Amino acid sequence: MISIEELERRMQPGAYSVKGFLGVGEKLTVITERDRSVLKELGLSYELIAGRLDELLAASIEVRKEKVVVGQFEIRLERFRGFQLCPWSQEPDFQQCKMGSGVQYGSIDWEITNRKIKRSLSGPGLIVHLVRDHHFFEGLGSPYRVDPLQLAQLLELA
Ligand SMILES: [Zn+2]
Repeated sequence: MISIEELERRMQPGAYSVKGFLGVGEKLTVITERDRSVLKELGLSYELIAGRLDELLAASIEVRKEKVVVGQFEIRLERFRGFQLCPWSQEPDFQQCKMGSGVQYGSIDWEITNRKIKRSLSGPGLIVHLVRDHHFFEGLGSPYRVDPLQLAQLLELA
């Protein structure tokens, strides 16, 4: 098991990611507790919200188009050569995290627009794994954070 202190070190800007999974000085458990209560209030599970996002990314990742339309959703992907390592990785020098269902979208960023309700949101592909398997939406001070309420509204789950 990786300690909370080690995870927080990995999540700071400039460690595992240039911009960080947490803002400077942010505490992991404060963030995860906050988001846990948001989901609880919405009556949503991590699996459901991550699974819905997973479906939209899975539908677009094989299609080599700039924009993919799935129902009311417009999905744009930005693809990268490298991949973002999950901070929970047990052997970060050798392999990507294998917890839960593992990482499917470590090399993309996404932007999804719901045309019906005219809202957009963007985030990293890794968030599917972070939410589903680590119950983490990233820190309030991270530019990669995907706000759980905004995500639920975008996906019409709230
Ligand atoms: Zn992981």
